[in-house]
Amino acid sequence: MSRTSAASAVTRWSRWGVALVEAGDGRPLCLSLTNTRFFRNSAAPRETLRGYADLVDWASLKKIVGPKEANRLVGQATASPPAARRELARTIALREAMARLFAAKAHHRELAADDLAVVMTTFNEAAKQLKLAIDDERIVPCLDPARAGLALPRWQAAVSAIGLLTSKAAARVKECADDRGCGWLFLDTTRNGSRVYCFSSECGNRARQMKFRERHRAGDGTVHVHRA
Ligand SMILES: [Zn+2]
Repeated sequence: MSRTSAASAVTRWSRWGVALVEAGDGRPLCLSLTNTRFFRNSAAPRETLRGYADLVDWASLKKIVGPKEANRLVGQATASPPAARRELARTIALREAMARLFAAKAHHRELAADDLAVVMTTFNEAAKQLKLAIDDERIVPCLDPARAGLALPRWQAAVSAIGLLTSKAAARVKECADDRGCGWLFLDTTRNGSRVYCFSSECGNRARQMKFRERHRAGDGTVHVHRA
């Protein structure tokens, strides 16, 4: 995406600050969706979304659907397999666009306009269905699950992505530094921004072990402990 935007100050909404703040477990939903494909940068990525039911499992785990809603979605997918396959394909297309965008953010590369367009289009689909509800005297925006239908997980992920991309936290998105192609995307919430590996202890431990071996391996293959 070009750094010189054609948007004027007015069209950039500079008069208002609009923020989408994500509540939950502190791990943004959009990044969680990108991580449903493990070791995505390796020669053998592992796909966990092989059917629409897998997507419902993920949505349940992330608490964006309750048990009743999850059953309803599975029932709807079972009743119309082609629609479920189409929705899964759309969700995966969104996921891959988000993965490229956030990996670009993590490595300070330019964002692809095509990928931003995929996220924005999905967000707009969701925004059309937003309702305002009164909850204990507070006005809260919400999605009507019945109207969202099979698209509910995808829409929630797109809202999360726009929330993260437009927040200061976007600068804290990182990609696991593991050299086997882990590709896990995460938000570094450490105070000094020092996290480089994913939440799996495996990547960090492996890197530490490799460093240890490199530092302590002598030319003859025997291991010595040097005094630092
Ligand atoms: Zn990792």
